[in-house]
Amino acid sequence: MTNTEAVLWFALREEQLLVRDEEPVGVPSAVSVEDLGLSVTFEQEVGVVDGRRCLAVDLPTDAEAPEGMVFRDLRGLWGVDDEAFFKMAGRAKQIVEWNRTNRFCGRDGTETVPVPMELAKKCPRCGMVFYPRLSPAAIVLVSRGDEILMARSPGFPPGMYSVLAGFVEPGESIEETIKREIREEVGVEVENLRYFGSQPWPFPNSLMIGFIVDYAGGELRIDPSEIEDAGWYRIDDLPQLPPRVSIARAMIDEFVARRGRGRQASEAS
Ligand SMILES: [Zn+2]
Repeated sequence: MTNTEAVLWFALREEQLLVRDEEPVGVPSAVSVEDLGLSVTFEQEVGVVDGRRCLAVDLPTDAEAPEGMVFRDLRGLWGVDDEAFFKMAGRAKQIVEWNRTNRFCGRDGTETVPVPMELAKKCPRCGMVFYPRLSPAAIVLVSRGDEILMARSPGFPPGMYSVLAGFVEPGESIEETIKREIREEVGVEVENLRYFGSQPWPFPNSLMIGFIVDYAGGELRIDPSEIEDAGWYRIDDLPQLPPRVSIARAMIDEFVARRGRGRQASEAS
């Protein structure tokens, strides 16, 4: 690191990111933390965005935003910024939180030390190593002909429906997670699991792994502890959908586009 090169500071105060008070939203760029007039409790280099080196930085809970900057809730920034920016902000948030919650060994309480060249901390007493926690989750579009199985969780914005999702449990393959979750949440069986893509989701530390699957049998039977309502929706009559930047929405949009093309082709023939 040359110490004259300005880097991007992804600085967090609790769950809030320090950004410039202007549109489009961006994080401050500075050579050193003194230039920003902030005191820092932790910093780590976390990658590159647009050719600029990025630092994840933790600030004291009473830190005040320098002039021309504000603290904004990271969730509120989702969808208003470009994907590379949001991904780096999410990565920085998770690394800062990992540092906050792994300062001491969970086994014997000894203060941990960084492992050189690795995203890891180690207990100097018992040797246990602590990596940032990631929680893989399956997100699943269940299709039946031209219909999609859509459901509402109690925490959703009013009127919004999405595809189903659930966390992978220890000892489980992602395929087993999908079949178990769909059976538990809505009582149906699925088959023909096709991988769609994945999306990191930093609230708090998920990796959403998307699959499109086919309905294989069973009547809808909702688990009310997880699902408020669920139903089969035709692709030309869908309810309010999740935001465009979500993998759930990307899966729905792709499925609808593919079915729509298939129908045009069969109508034309
Ligand atoms: Zn230990």
